[in-house]
Amino acid sequence: MREHKRRFIWFCSTEYVAEHPDSLEKLRDEIGLTTIMPESHICHTSGFRASDEIAARGPFEDWRSRAHLSPKINEGIYPAVAGTVGGFDDAPLLKVIDAARNAELEIWGHIGLWSYGGEVFPEYAMKDVEGNALDMRYHKWGIGLCPSNRVVNDWTRECLVDVIGRYDIDGFDVDHARFPAPANISSLFGCACESCAEAATRLGFEFKKMREGMLNLKNRLKTVQPAAVEKAFETGLAWEHLESGSNGQFRNWLSFRATLLADWMREFRDAVQAAAGEDKVFGSDVWPPSVALLGGHDYALWEQGADYLTGGSSAGGVVGWATTVTNLAGEWASFLCKQVSGLEEQTALRLVFQMFDYEKFELPDSKDGIQKGPLPLERMYEFEVEKLKNSSSGNLPLYPPISASGDAVRTRKLCEAVAKNGCDGALFTLDPENAETLKVIREVFGK
Ligand SMILES: [Zn+2]
Repeated sequence: MREHKRRFIWFCSTEYVAEHPDSLEKLRDEIGLTTIMPESHICHTSGFRASDEIAARGPFEDWRSRAHLSPKINEGIYPAVAGTVGGFDDAPLLKVIDAARNAELEIWGHIGLWSYGGEVFPEYAMKDVEGNALDMRYHKWGIGLCPSNRVVNDWTRECLVDVIGRYDIDGFDVDHARFPAPANISSLFGCACESCAEAATRLGFEFKKMREGMLNLKNRLKTVQPAAVEKAFETGLAWEHLESGSNGQFRNWLSFRATLLADWMREFRDAVQAAAGEDKVFGSDVWPPSVALLGGHDYALWEQGADYLTGGSSAGGVVGWATTVTNLAGEWASFLCKQVSGLEEQTALRLVFQMFDYEKFELPDSKDGIQKGPLPLERMYEFEVEKLKNSSSGNLPLYPPISASGDAVRTRKLCEAVAKNGCDGALFTLDPENAETLKVIREVFGK
């Protein structure tokens, strides 16, 4: 087992830190902050200004004319897409970089990749195995961009190289380096566009077989009987049914998707390090272990293009580690009930919880109940962190996400889960003015 660098990372708002530069020294002194990862909620990068040359070639530059596809555009909010989009003023970020250097902190740049933006740029969006766009019913879980589109990926690589050359940053924590959340069922059947078919062949997968298998699975799901769902629960063989229903292609399909993303991560890291030196770190947030492969992450492959593993948040939203399984369970159960006439929601949910080893949490037996809560977030989070520790090779440092803005009792439990499992630090979202939060972090991590 290698010794890893201990890091306490603040996933912070560029605008906030630009206005409160003193917060960095404060967090360094009070919780041992080592690193910041700033993001502007307006442009979804750290607040980089795209160079004129990059903007001139950018595939997303006409976003302002697409407000009919993303209403937030009317408020001046950039769509979440890959790379750096032109027209953003980097004055706040430059202030943040100055403040971080004065406090002797590491700075990770933030830039998006594929899991959003497909609804705004359908010409670059994922397609499922039937050639359809992803179902907008699952919009809130992300409508992804195709992860093998050359135009987008080559340009994104140029964006990364451009940014690392012009800004004083120590590397990247790229965001959206994944498929949409697996709660988005339609995304599980993509991307099967022509460039993904080519990429599959190049990576050694039999695309035609996989596509036929996944089409078969789609059709098989339409003819399932309630008794078969009951039986899958009794025998505990649901995953095997997905495998046989896809002519033995379900795992290959997931493996192909994960290989594709990991391959691009490696290419992006190689480009960044070739341009700016091997000491520049590169990585991303990842899905928690229980759903990782469904969302495009195979940690063993990911290692080849990342220098660390972290996550987006500990609970809630699209990427919260404690809630990705409950989110997908709600959607999968609704989907099953729609496909299987006469199936009760409770039965469907029970099956999905069993598939992810979540029965032990005694969760609500309806989608409404899951949405209303309360859910045992701390226990579910700890389960995922423990699984992360046990399923990763030990080659990379682990910095699980801790959303520390909530009540102090919860924050303490989240921190304890990370400390207890011997992770190498954590990535926090927090309010630097909240003395109680800082005290809890200090106490648990022994600063
Ligand atoms: Zn594709």
